[in-house]
Amino acid sequence: MEIITRAEATEQGLSVYNNGSPCVHGHVAGRYTASGRCLVCNKQKLKEYRDKKKSERRASGVLRLKEAEAMGLEFYDNGKPCKHGNYGKRKTSSKGKCYCPPCYEEHKKICRDAAMKKRRALGHKPIRRVTKEESKARYDKWVANNRERLNEYQRNWRKANRERMRPYQSAYNAIRWKRTSIPLSKLHLDAIVRVYEKRDEVIRATGIDHHVDHIVPLLGKNVCGLHVPWNLQILPAKENRQKSNKYDTV
Ligand SMILES: [Zn+2]
Ligand SMILES: [Zn+2]
Repeated sequence: MEIITRAEATEQGLSVYNNGSPCVHGHVAGRYTASGRCLVCNKQKLKEYRDKKKSERRASGVLRLKEAEAMGLEFYDNGKPCKHGNYGKRKTSSKGKCYCPPCYEEHKKICRDAAMKKRRALGHKPIRRVTKEESKARYDKWVANNRERLNEYQRNWRKANRERMRPYQSAYNAIRWKRTSIPLSKLHLDAIVRVYEKRDEVIRATGIDHHVDHIVPLLGKNVCGLHVPWNLQILPAKENRQKSNKYDTV
């Protein structure tokens, strides 16, 4: 580099110049015309500043996209809030896009709208989303209209899957046993036996299968009854199956 003074460099419109004399640190390199600062010193200071900032960033858990990629992270924090004011949910695979809950919802809506637009452009009917309540109501209606079919299906299923039903049956029996094992007098046990004998009589008389039912179910959804005489009633088998383990606690 040609040796010139700072004033000459300013005159010539140069951004750097070399006046041939060393800086305070002894570098004989160029200097900036605007500030008169040594180029080598400036470079060193810049590096120091960058390193300091980088270590500060690292210490606070803030990362750059490239660093997060290198570390194989799914999410990282770039130290900046998203428009919802959330930190640390930047997705690495989406180039640092925020995936905090509100941002994610927004993103999903955009995708949905785009898909809908595409369907409309193709002339397809728009998809109407069925709510949980609607789908439940639909199922309940179907069940009400197809009770017999459903019962038959369940009967067949139980017959075909005896092995799978066994654990439930034994659990039920165990509980039933436990519920009888409260101190019952001989009188009560006799009463229970009599209910079963009466049931057999009814079957003989009517020719229709009858069950001994627990008025309050042993394994009810909301209540558990006892295997005691005053909780027994004779019901046609069909009716008993429909009753299942439901008990209205009103
Ligand atoms: Zn210097
Ligand atoms: Zn966000």
